[in-house]
Amino acid sequence: MSKVKGFTSRIVHHDRLQGFADGPVHAPIYNSVPYSYATTEGLVEVFQGRASGHAYARQSTPTTDSLQSLISEAEQGIATLVFATGMAAISGTLLALLQRGDHMIASRFLFGNTHSLLSTLANFGIEVTLVDATDCAHVRAAQQGNTRLVFVETIANPGTQIASLDEIGQWCAQQNVLFMVDNTITSPYLFNPKSVQAGLVINSLSKYFGGHGTVLGGAITDTGLFDWSHYPNIFPAYQQGDAHKWGLTQIKKKALRDMGGTLSSDGAYQLAVGAETIALRMDRQCANAAALANLLAQHEKVEAVYYPGLASHPQHDRARRWFRSFGAILSFDLKAPYDCAALLDDMALVINATHLGDNRTLALPMASTIFYEMGPENRAALGIGDRMIRCSVGIEDPEDILSCFAEALARLTP
Ligand SMILES: *Cc1c(COP(=O)(O)O)cnc(C)c1O
Repeated sequence: MSKVKGFTSRIVHHDRLQGFADGPVHAPIYNSVPYSYATTEGLVEVFQGRASGHAYARQSTPTTDSLQSLISEAEQGIATLVFATGMAAISGTLLALLQRGDHMIASRFLFGNTHSLLSTLANFGIEVTLVDATDCAHVRAAQQGNTRLVFVETIANPGTQIASLDEIGQWCAQQNVLFMVDNTITSPYLFNPKSVQAGLVINSLSKYFGGHGTVLGGAITDTGLFDWSHYPNIFPAYQQGDAHKWGLTQIKKKALRDMGGTLSSDGAYQLAVGAETIALRMDRQCANAAALANLLAQHEKVEAVYYPGLASHPQHDRARRWFRSFGAILSFDLKAPYDCAALLDDMALVINATHLGDNRTLALPMASTIFYEMGPENRAALGIGDRMIRCSVGIEDPEDILSCFAEALARLTP
C-alpha cells in the first residue's frame, strides 16, 4: 500500500491485500501438508525454483508466506523466513551460513540461550569472539581474516546495554562483513535495523510481535543491503539470479527445509493477529516502564536501575536518537541485604515468570534462574549481580503497577 505510511495502517491492511480468494481480511489458515499440481510439470517448476508455489509445508504454506510478507513490510526488508521459535531462526541461520574454520564476532551482552548456542558452535569448528559491542573499537579489534559476520542485539537484556549500532553497521559495510541484528527487544515498531545497515534482522515473534504469550515464532529478514556475491559460503546451487537473494535462499534450503524448525500455519495466524496491536501495546508498555524506572531510581531500597530511558543510562543518547521509545524491559539491583524472592513473592500483580513482551508484567531474579548455568564468574563479567531483578512491563493500568511495586518495597524488610 504505497500511499499508507503509518506502521499500524500497513499492518492491519496487509492480509486483505494479499489476493486470497473471497477477499478475507485475515490470511486463511492452510493446514494442508502437501500441495498438488494439475500436471507433473507444474510440480517440477516449483521444485526447480522456476515458478513460485508450495510443495510441502515444512518449507512454506500460503499462511506462513503471508506472515513473512507482513514482517518484511514491518522491517522494510526484501524477504523474510519464519521459524518455529526465535532460537530456531538464529541457530538455523548461523548453521546455514557458517562453516568449519569461520569466525564470527558477537556482543557479550546477549540473550542467555543465544550465548549458550554460540558456545556450542565451537564444537563445529566455528570460532566466536565475544566483545563489548557498546564500543565499535572492540568489534574492529576482534576482526580476523576469516570473520564472516557480526551479531548484536539492539537493547540487551537484562543489563539494557545498547550496541554501537551505527558505527558497527558502517564498519561491516566497509569490510563486506555481514551485520546481523536481533531486534526482538525493540521490535520493528521501535526500531528499524536497516537504518544502521543491518543485512539480516532477527525477531523472536514470541515476544512483542505476537505479544500475548500464547504462541512461539521466529523470523529472519533480509534487508536487501548485503551483497551476497561477497559472501564465500554460498553453495553454487544458490548462486542463481539476483545476488541479494542468495543468502535467504540458502537459509531456506539449509535451515528451514533441512533442519525443519518450521512454524505451523496455526501459529502464523495467531502471530499475525497479535501483530495488529504492536504499536498500541508497546506505547503503553514503554510508558509504564518509564514510570516504573523513575519510581525505582528514587527508591532508597534500590541500588541501581538499568533502563535506557533514564538520563543516567550510559547509552541514553543513542536510545533517544535511534528508537521510537525506550522499550519496556528494565532491571534493577536491590540494595544489600534485601532479598529478591522476598520482594517478588509479595507482589500479587507481578507474575513470577521468565519470558518477556507479554501483556502482563513479569519479573524474575536473574542470577538464580536464566544466568544460573553460566556460573558466578561469567555473571560478574556480564554485570549480573545476585540482587538483580528483570521486569518485562505489561499493559496493566499504570497506577496498579506503580502501587504494587511501591507497597511491596515499603513492606520489604532485611
Ligand atoms: C526470546 C529471545 C530469543 C529467542 O526467542 P524464542 O522465540 O523464545 O526462541 C532471541 N533473542 C532475544 C533477544 C530474545 O529475547
